[in-house]
Amino acid sequence: MKKIDIVVPCYNESEVINLFYRECKKVTDKIEGYNIRYLFIDDGSSDDTLSKLKGICENPDADYISFSRNFGKEAAMYSGLKNTAGDMVVLMDSDLQHPPALLPQMIKGIEEGYDCTATYRATRDGDPPLRIAFTNRFYKLVNKISDVNMPNGAGDFRMMNRKMVNAVVAMSEVQRFSKGIFSWVGFKTKWIAFQDVERAAGRTKWSFWKLFIYAVDGITAFSTAPLRLASVVGACVSFSAFIYLIYVILKTLICGKDFPGFASVVTLILFIGGFIILTCGILGEYIAKIYMEVKNRPVYLIGETSLKDSKEDYEIK
Ligand code: UDP
Ligand code: MG
Repeated sequence: MKKIDIVVPCYNESEVINLFYRECKKVTDKIEGYNIRYLFIDDGSSDDTLSKLKGICENPDADYISFSRNFGKEAAMYSGLKNTAGDMVVLMDSDLQHPPALLPQMIKGIEEGYDCTATYRATRDGDPPLRIAFTNRFYKLVNKISDVNMPNGAGDFRMMNRKMVNAVVAMSEVQRFSKGIFSWVGFKTKWIAFQDVERAAGRTKWSFWKLFIYAVDGITAFSTAPLRLASVVGACVSFSAFIYLIYVILKTLICGKDFPGFASVVTLILFIGGFIILTCGILGEYIAKIYMEVKNRPVYLIGETSLKDSKEDYEIK
């Protein structure tokens, strides 16, 4: 019988985790011909998520991994993919924003010969308008300037076959941006739309600032266009400065008088100064990425787990 692993990252989800397991079980119990298991990743929760997970894991179809601290959802998904051996792996949020009812359809996609069935939100009713506006901009920008294509609304809710999971796990970068990685590895993907719903309980872990940093990470992880843009704008500014210099010299020679221009000089200094600082910032983003990657620290550390042979991230490094 083929095996499906459902990986569920959980961070402070004590209000919703039992409900999630109950609702999801209703769907998976009806799926025949597959051995379906759950792997919950407790991402260093500070509430009693872990003790609730231990309760859930008394069922024979569930296991948990608990991190030594909060490493973030990307790390949780990575460790989930790394610690599963099923023929198919599903990534799913624990707040029921990813409808379990889609699972049979996702399995069908893989049976049809696709390597992955991924979902995207057809609407974003659960999000505030400002977040929707910025998210739309982000997808437009990142698809334009990078060589990966991330469909707007595509989340992490997807089912992948073993071939694709192995490819994703093989990308062992420390600063992970899964949406980009899924697209980068390629493979045949079937897309399924779903209606956005509000979380069943609890609160989102994403503040506006966290999302902004995440967006910058996404762009710098898959594109060097900002660096090129800095060089191009730098060249344009130098060229304009040169033209202006010639204009000033000629005007002084022809008109024979001093060129008064205190205001324009100050404006130019501020403009060029600002541009240099911005360029340093862009360079800094990439240098920080290199710095974190060369340290090659593990993406996650396991505090405790119910798995007998769990894989730490440093074991293969
Ligand atoms: N999550 C996690 N670690 C974190 C933040 C979130 O494992 O540091 C999990 C969280 O428990 C949930 C999923 O990632 O299962 C999505 O988080 P959330 O619902 O807060 O994000 P949103 O749906 O608002 O994008
Ligand atoms: Mg959510």
